[in-house]
Amino acid sequence: MQKRQVYLDHGATSPLRKEALEAMLPFLQERYGNPSSLHSPGRKVRTAIERAREETALALGAEPEEIIFTSGGTEANNIAIRGAAQARRGKGHLLTSSVEHHAVLDVCRELAGEGFEVTLLPVDRYGLVSPETVARALKPETFLISVMTANNEVGTVEPVAEIGALARERGILFHTDAVQAVGQLPVDVREMKVDLLSLSAHKFNGPKGVGALYVRRDTPLTPLYSGGGQERQLRPGTENVPGIIGLARALTLAVEELPEKSRRLKALRDRLIEGLLAMGDAVLNGHPSSRLPGNVNVSFNYIEGEALLLGLDLEGVAASSGSACTSGSLEPSHVLMAMGLGLQLARGSLRLTLGRGNSDGCVDYVLAVLAPLVDRLRKMSALYPGKQS
Ligand SMILES: *Cc1c(COP(=O)(O)O)cnc(C)c1O
Repeated sequence: MQKRQVYLDHGATSPLRKEALEAMLPFLQERYGNPSSLHSPGRKVRTAIERAREETALALGAEPEEIIFTSGGTEANNIAIRGAAQARRGKGHLLTSSVEHHAVLDVCRELAGEGFEVTLLPVDRYGLVSPETVARALKPETFLISVMTANNEVGTVEPVAEIGALARERGILFHTDAVQAVGQLPVDVREMKVDLLSLSAHKFNGPKGVGALYVRRDTPLTPLYSGGGQERQLRPGTENVPGIIGLARALTLAVEELPEKSRRLKALRDRLIEGLLAMGDAVLNGHPSSRLPGNVNVSFNYIEGEALLLGLDLEGVAASSGSACTSGSLEPSHVLMAMGLGLQLARGSLRLTLGRGNSDGCVDYVLAVLAPLVDRLRKMSALYPGKQS
C-alpha cells in the first residue's frame, strides 16, 4: 500500500485555511499601524479590527461590544472564570464538570485553594452532565456554572441550553468552553443562554494564539491584567491584529460551511467508528449520537493507546491518545476515568479527529493500516486472552 500522510488530530489543532492567511498577510506587512494610534495608518487598522469584531459577533449571535479578543481558548477561560470570581465581594460557590479542559479545571482548583467552594459535577458513562445533576448541586452561594459545549477528548455534546436556562432563572452566571464546538456545531449565545463563551481560532482553521471571549452585556468581570485599555481592559496590550483578522475570516467561513461540513464529517466519522469497532474488543468512548461531527474515540482492550499512536505515526497517520495535553504523561485521561472506564480501557484509547482536509480515502487508509497494527500489538500483549490465533 502506498504510504500517505493523513492528519486526524483536528481536535488538537487544525491547519490555517488559505482565505484566513490571505486576509492576514497585509497586517503582517504594510498595514502595521497600532490600532490605538490617532494617525491614519493606526485608525485604518482600528477599523479592520472593529469589522472583525462585528463579523465574530454576527457568527455567534452576539453584539460587537460583547466580544473580547484574547490569546486563545486558555486565556479566554481564565479571564471568564477567574474574572467572575474576583468580581465578587467575598467568596462563593462555583460548579464545573469533571470532564472540562485543564484550562478550566486548573483555574477552578486554584480558586478552591483561595477559599472558593468548588463542586466538580460527575458525568454519566457517555460523558454527559445532566441538568438535573447541576440543579441538585446548586447552593444559595452559587455564582457561576462552567460546563463545556462539547468535550475535546470524547466529543460528547453537553446540554448547555438547558443548563443555561436553569442558571439564568436563578441569576447565576453561566460560562461555556465552546472551543471544540465552534466551527463544528451551530453556536448561538442567545439560544445557549450563556453569559460567557470561549473560543479559539486554531480549532477552526484559523491562526494559533488568538481566540475570543463572549461577555454578555453587564456581566461583572474583574480584569486579570493591568497596563492598557484595550478590549475593554479585559485583555490589555496591543492587539494581535493579524490573528484577529484571521480569526474573523476563518469563523465566518466555518459558519457558512457548517451544514455541508457537518454532514460530510458525520459520514466519515460513522464509517471510521464502524470500521474500528469491527476490529473486535473495542468500545466507542463518548456519546453515540450527541457527538461532535469530527470526533472518533475508541478504546482497544489489551492495547496501550500510546503504542497505537506511535504505530500510526510510522504509517503517516497523526492521531492522539486521550488528549494532546496529557499525552507524554502516564496518567490516564481524567475524562475517561470520570466516565467510569476501567484503567485498562482508559489506557487503550485512541482519538481520531476529522477536519476539512479529510476524505473517504483517509478513512480507508487509516482502517487499512490500523487493522494489522491492532493485531500485532494484541499478540504482543501479555494480557490478551485470544493468543491462540
Ligand atoms: C484546545 C482547547 C482549549 C485551549 O485552547 P488554546 O487556544 O489552545 O489555548 C480549551 N478548551 C478546549 C475544549 C480545547 O479543545
